[in-house]
Amino acid sequence: MAKKEYCGVFGIFDHELAVDLTYLGLYSLQHRGEESCGMAVFNGKKLRQLAGMGLVSEVFNQSTLKKLKGRTAIGHVRYSTTGSSILRNAQPFVISHNKISFSIAHNGNLTNTVKLRRKLEREGAIFQTTMDSEIVLHLLVRSQKKLFEDRLEDALRQCEGAYTMLFLNEEKLIGVRDPYGFRPLCLGKKDGKYVLASETCSLDLIDAEFVREIDPGEIVIVSKDGIEFRKPFEKQKPSPCIFELIYFARPDSHIFDDCVHLVRKRLGTMLAREHYTDADMVMSIPDSGNCAALGYSEECGIPFEIGMVRNHYIGRTFIQPSQEMRKHGVKIKLNPIKEVLKGKRVIVVEDSIVRGTTTGGRIKAIRDAGAKEIHMRISCPPIKFPCFYGIDFPNRKELIANQLESIDGIAKFIGVDSLKYLSLDGMLKAVNGCGRSFCDACFSGKYPTKIRKRAGKLALEK
Ligand code: 5GP
Ligand code: MG
Repeated sequence: MAKKEYCGVFGIFDHELAVDLTYLGLYSLQHRGEESCGMAVFNGKKLRQLAGMGLVSEVFNQSTLKKLKGRTAIGHVRYSTTGSSILRNAQPFVISHNKISFSIAHNGNLTNTVKLRRKLEREGAIFQTTMDSEIVLHLLVRSQKKLFEDRLEDALRQCEGAYTMLFLNEEKLIGVRDPYGFRPLCLGKKDGKYVLASETCSLDLIDAEFVREIDPGEIVIVSKDGIEFRKPFEKQKPSPCIFELIYFARPDSHIFDDCVHLVRKRLGTMLAREHYTDADMVMSIPDSGNCAALGYSEECGIPFEIGMVRNHYIGRTFIQPSQEMRKHGVKIKLNPIKEVLKGKRVIVVEDSIVRGTTTGGRIKAIRDAGAKEIHMRISCPPIKFPCFYGIDFPNRKELIANQLESIDGIAKFIGVDSLKYLSLDGMLKAVNGCGRSFCDACFSGKYPTKIRKRAGKLALEK
């Protein structure tokens, strides 16, 4: 039972429209997870939760939203792969223990789950889900400290890996970013009330002002008394996930101190400098390749064209749980424009190749539409190493850059006339104007934290 969490979180404290704003916040984070979503709301007396499988627009409607009353809320959108696509894993979780009730929404993957869960189970803990987030709850209620935030610190000190988390109890909204800062979290203000969200695109949507990003290792506590920041953990080298910038975050978001769209454009610029080739047009595989393709085209002076149009009414193909479903997804998602492509020498810019399965289908479609030459350019290096921090590259064998010996081999497999990837150096230069550090383990194999033998696996798996 594989479990990868790639999610989005949103929370707001003491606002009369908390439920509606959380709904909107989740809408803007839908790209971070289409499998399930949910919301937990405090109505002054009780914490209530509503979660379900599917998109935000499917899980919530006028009448369910009306039932959720309260001024403080957290929400979650969730993406997962095969095995854990079940309702009981949908977040936020709400639990009651020893007269306290609280709720958690988690983005990221803990890497010492097996060890922690085994230990807790030996001590008698009963688990309801297959999620690592539940482990944090057990650790939290075991702490002997009095204050919730102190108990939380105790719990998190035992956790390794990636976590951006929101907690809601009867008095407080708490946000945490792990000491490495793998996943983003930002703080905003709406009508004088505090908001926490994975990405700033949520703040834009609800007209909230951006205050700042939460630092790696920082805990933010919002209560009736105001806002408090703590940095209780040992300082680590910041390692935000570079793949958030390359692919995952929305281009209109500002994360890790940068504008995602402009970072992607710079990646495209660097790609053109490293791998120029003569051609009639530059196109992207929409939407994820758009920004890099624009950067590429601007840099080399070959015009950008729309060679393919995306159907926006289906989800991300990657999210379909089985390989078979993924194949169907590709066919309905993108359609080439024959009149543009016929007889042309085309540079196709794409943000990344992971398994290589969807790319092959798209290239075939471009070829069938009449393109004479296809030169593919990828705005990151080959992905060779699994991610243990929440991105869905779990298995070395599944990554095409490991399956095939050479880049020429990959070019042949996906059916292009030439294939070039941005170099690791080029990527770091493009992303990192001012000496910041990132986690680039999926490209370099250099993991910022210790990776245990069964990292990323749950105790349930045998
Ligand atoms: P592949 O050819 O490897 O099957 O798919 C490559 C495509 O997947 C690219 O269009 C890229 O934008 C997209 N992609 C890369 N990483 C992810 C991810 O984590 N989730 C989803 N949904 N798509 C991804
Ligand atoms: Mg894409």
